[in-house]
Amino acid sequence: MSLDSPIEYLQGVGPSRAQLLRSELEVHYFRDLLHHFPFRYIDRSRFHKIRDIRDDSTLVQLQATLDDVKEIKQKRGSRLEAWISDETGRMKLVWFQGVRWIRPQLQVGKQYLIFGKPNRFKGQFSLNHPEIQQMEEGKVPLLGELQPVYSSTEKLTSKGLDTRGLSKLMKNLLPEVLKEIKEVIPEEIVSDYRLMDRQLSYAQIHYPKKSELLKKARFRMKFEELFFLQMSLLLSKVARIKKTRGHVFTSVGDKFNTFYSEHLPFELTNAQKRVIKEIRRDVGSGQQMNRLLQGDVGSGKTIVGLLIMLLAIDNGFQAALMAPTEILANQHYKTLKQLLTGTGVRIGLLTGSTKQGMRKSLHQALEFGELNILIGTHALIEDKVKFQNLGMVIIDEQHRFGVAQRAKLWKKNSIPPHVLVMTATPIPRTLAMTYYGDLDVSQIDELPPGRKEIKTVHRNDGNRLRVFQFMEDEIKKGRQVYVVYPLIEESKKMDADLKDLMDGYESLSRRFPRPEYQIGIVHGRMKPEDKDYEMLRFATGDTHILVATTVIEVGVNVPNASVMVIESAERFGLSQLHQLRGRVGRGAEQSYCILMTGHKLSADARTRLETMVRTNDGFQIAEVDLELRGAGDIMGTRQSGEVALNIANLITDGPILGMAREAALRIIDEDPELQKDSNRIMIPELRKHMAQKSRWAKIS
Ligand code: ADP
Ligand code: MG
Repeated sequence: MSLDSPIEYLQGVGPSRAQLLRSELEVHYFRDLLHHFPFRYIDRSRFHKIRDIRDDSTLVQLQATLDDVKEIKQKRGSRLEAWISDETGRMKLVWFQGVRWIRPQLQVGKQYLIFGKPNRFKGQFSLNHPEIQQMEEGKVPLLGELQPVYSSTEKLTSKGLDTRGLSKLMKNLLPEVLKEIKEVIPEEIVSDYRLMDRQLSYAQIHYPKKSELLKKARFRMKFEELFFLQMSLLLSKVARIKKTRGHVFTSVGDKFNTFYSEHLPFELTNAQKRVIKEIRRDVGSGQQMNRLLQGDVGSGKTIVGLLIMLLAIDNGFQAALMAPTEILANQHYKTLKQLLTGTGVRIGLLTGSTKQGMRKSLHQALEFGELNILIGTHALIEDKVKFQNLGMVIIDEQHRFGVAQRAKLWKKNSIPPHVLVMTATPIPRTLAMTYYGDLDVSQIDELPPGRKEIKTVHRNDGNRLRVFQFMEDEIKKGRQVYVVYPLIEESKKMDADLKDLMDGYESLSRRFPRPEYQIGIVHGRMKPEDKDYEMLRFATGDTHILVATTVIEVGVNVPNASVMVIESAERFGLSQLHQLRGRVGRGAEQSYCILMTGHKLSADARTRLETMVRTNDGFQIAEVDLELRGAGDIMGTRQSGEVALNIANLITDGPILGMAREAALRIIDEDPELQKDSNRIMIPELRKHMAQKSRWAKIS
C-alpha cells in the first residue's frame, strides 16, 4: 500500500465507505486521508462529575453507568433517549439522528465514557449527540492527553465515520504510509527554523502524544504549507521577470527636476521619497516594473504618481493614469493640470463621456506623441486608443480594475509599460504576501505632517437634531459637509435606497434652507455631466452640503470638507466606511465622522462601528475586516477559488507566514533556478503547488 492507493483498500474502509469518503470529503487516495487534518483537539485528561456541570461548561467528559435506553417514535424516524448516572447524579443523553447506528452500542448496566456538550432544557442538563465509548470492566480507559477532532458529515457519521471512526482509520493508515513520507524542505531551512521531522509531524498531528509535540508538528505543517505557497509565488515572479523586458528609464531629466524644485507645493514625506526611490530602482533595471503602492487614504499617492510619470516623460515616453470612476478621473485631471501649469507637460482626459470630436483629436495627439499624459477611466483601454510610446501606467484604486483589463493595457506596446498600482484599501500584510506575493509592494506608511485624527462618533436617529446643529456650526465656521447614503446599485432595495436618499435630501433642504445654504446631490444614476457639475460646485465651495452615495468613496479630494455623516452606517463594510471617512481630514482643520444607525445592530455591525470609532489606522481596520469577513471575501476571490489552505490560517498565522516568506526569499535569492542539489528536493512538492495555484494566481 502506498500514498497513491485508492482509499477503499485501506483496512476498515471498503467500497461503500470509500464512496462516501470520496463524495463527502474529497478523499480518493490514502494521501488525501492523511491530509484530512484534525481541526481541533480536546484535552481528554480531565473527567467531570454530573453534579458539577454548569450552564457554562463547554465540553464535559464523564464516566457513568447506563441505566435505561428508550427509542421514541416520532413523525419521521425516531429519537433515542438514554439515562446515565454516576455517584453524584443522573442525566439524559439524546440522539435525533443515527439512531440505528447508536442503539446497538448501548447496553444497560455497562460503564461508558461519555463526551459532549451540555444542553439545558427546562432546568435539566442533557447531552445531545454525545460521543460514547464502552469501558471494559473495572478498567480506566487509556487515553491520549489530546484527542483529535476531525470534521465529518451526517452521512459519514451514519456509516460510523464520525470523528472517532475517522481517528480509527488514521490508526490503520499511518503505518501504511509513514515510511513513504520524505523531507521536502531543504536541510538548512529545516535546521534554521527548527522544523520537526516530517514523518513525526504527520504522526503527531493525527496522534498527538503531548501538547508540546503537537505544537511543533502543527508549526511545521503550517510552515511547510505557507513556504510552498510563497515559493510558487516567487518562482512565478522570477519567470515573469525573465520573460518580460522593460523600458529602461536611465535619466532623471528636466521635467522631473524642474517640477521637483519649482512646482512641488510641499515637502515630500520621507515615505513618499522612499517609495519614489524604490520605483526608480525598478524602472532602471531593464525589467518591467509591476509594483503595488499601498498608502492609507490621504497619504499622498497622487503626487508620487505624478513624479513617476514625469520620469517617464523625461525618458521619452508617454504615461497614462487610470481611475475607477469619472469623478475621480476628472479630479485627477484638474489637480494634475493645475500642478503642471507652466511646466510644458501636455495632459489629456478621456472618459466615457468624452465627445466624439474631442476623442478623435485626443487619439491623434496621442499617436503623434503630442500628449505626454493621458488620464482616464477604463475608457482608456476599451477605446481604440493608440499611444506613440506608452512607458508607464498608473492604476489608481486598483481593487476596481479587473485582471483582464490590466492585461489589455499591456498589449498596447510590444514592450509592456511599467505598471504601478496604487491602492488606499489597506490589505493586511498576510493577504498582501499571499495574494500579491508575486508583485513588489511599496508602502507609504506616514501621513503628511499636520494631519489631525478624524474624530469619529456613533449616533442614533434620536440624536439627529444635535447632529444637524453640529453641521450648522461647522458650516458657520466655513467648512463643508458630506452626507452619504447607502445605495447598492444591483440590489433589489435599489428603489427604496433611492427614496431614502431623496427623503434625506429633502429633510436637509428644510433644515438648511436656501439661499443661506446650498445643498448638492450626486448619485450613480445621474448623467456624468450633472455629476461633474455638482462635484465642481462642492469642490469650489459653492455648496455647503453634498448629499451623495458611495460614488464619492474613493479619491475625492475637497480639503475644506470637515464633516462626514454616514447614514445607515451599519450597511457599509469596514473598508468602505474607512474610505468614506477618508474624504474628510484632508485639510488643516479638525475633521469629524458621524456614523448614524438605527438601534438594532448585528454583532458584526457593532464591531465595525466600534472599530471605526476606536481607530483611524487603515491597517488595523483591515485586520478587523479580515477577521470578520475572511480572506476570500476581501480579495473578491470567493467565486474563483480561494487560496486553499489546509492547516495554516491567514488570520492567526501571520508570524509563521512571515518566516515562510523569508525562507522562500532566501532560497530564491541564492538559487532562483533551483539548481543546487539541496534545493531539488522541493521540486515534486512545488509541482503540486504550482498546479493548484494557477487557479487563483491570475488575480494580480
Ligand atoms: P491619497 O493617497 O489618498 O490619494 P492624495 O494624493 O489625494 O492622497 O493626497 C491627499 C492630500 O494631501 C492632497 O491634498 C495632497 O495635496 C496632500 N499632500 C500629499 N503629499 C503631501 C505632503 N508631503 N505634504 C503635505 N500635503 C501633502
Ligand atoms: Mg488618491
